[in-house]
Amino acid sequence: MSKPDFSELSPENIVAFFGDIFERRGADSYLGEQVTMSEHMLQGAKLAEDAGATEEIIAAALLHDIGHYTNEFPEDALEKGIDNLHDEAGAAVLAPFFPTVVTDCVRHHVAAKRYLCATDDAYFGRLSAASVHTLGLQGGPMDAQEVDAFARNPNLESILQVRIWDDQGKVPGEVTPPFAHYAPMLQRVVDAHVEKETA
Ligand code: FE
Repeated sequence: MSKPDFSELSPENIVAFFGDIFERRGADSYLGEQVTMSEHMLQGAKLAEDAGATEEIIAAALLHDIGHYTNEFPEDALEKGIDNLHDEAGAAVLAPFFPTVVTDCVRHHVAAKRYLCATDDAYFGRLSAASVHTLGLQGGPMDAQEVDAFARNPNLESILQVRIWDDQGKVPGEVTPPFAHYAPMLQRVVDAHVEKETA
């Protein structure tokens, strides 16, 4: 089978698009962590699956860092005005195909770290060195006003849970299922979403 044309993303090729990124770019380093990007995202998905999360939340854990690959996205997948912040970029590319709970988990996974640092004393101590470093660049812990606003998101619980799996998914040598294991799940989530949108 020849490589699909990803110049335009659709419900039919979006899962193959992600699979292709995992395959070609998965070995990219993950910003000072001991695991590669694909190892990190697959570990997040496995933690979600092992915890009995819904397929939507497993999809969110698997794809939360997909925004690091903005240079792979077709131009029209990124809405105008979105810069290269990987949380926003990831949510933008997912938005046409996934429900809000998924895009919320992706869009807010960096903010969730800032929220948890402000609200959970033990949380900061569990962050990796690289994650502590980026916290400073991301604005540090939220202030009380930011915490209040963030807590109003109806998907708060899922957002925080995906963030915690994000932090835990950094174990060198951890064995996970491959992307192909999650592909049928992703397709089910996409199909259900598209069906709902067009109903
Ligand atoms: Fe991550």
